Amino acid sequence: MKTYPVRTCLGCGKKGFKKEFRRFAVDDAGTLVMDNRSIIGGRGAYCCMNGDCMRLFMKNRKRLLRAFHVQVIEWNKQ
Ligand SMILES: [Zn+2]
Repeated sequence: MKTYPVRTCLGCGKKGFKKEFRRFAVDDAGTLVMDNRSIIGGRGAYCCMNGDCMRLFMKNRKRLLRAFHVQVIEWNKQ
């Protein structure tokens, strides 16, 4: 039996499969970037693909810190 990793949205806390979320990662410079293709290694965080969750996600720096274990210095709005 195949199992799929379950991810949690950092905005609303909903659990779901990886493909339902956007992946984010922090690069070497401490910039939070969208990383849908998992180019940046290390810890990733996931968020639903809707505006409300994105806002919560960006606002909650404490959660970001817990997810990445680094201080997010800036947010790369792409
Ligand atoms: Zn969400």
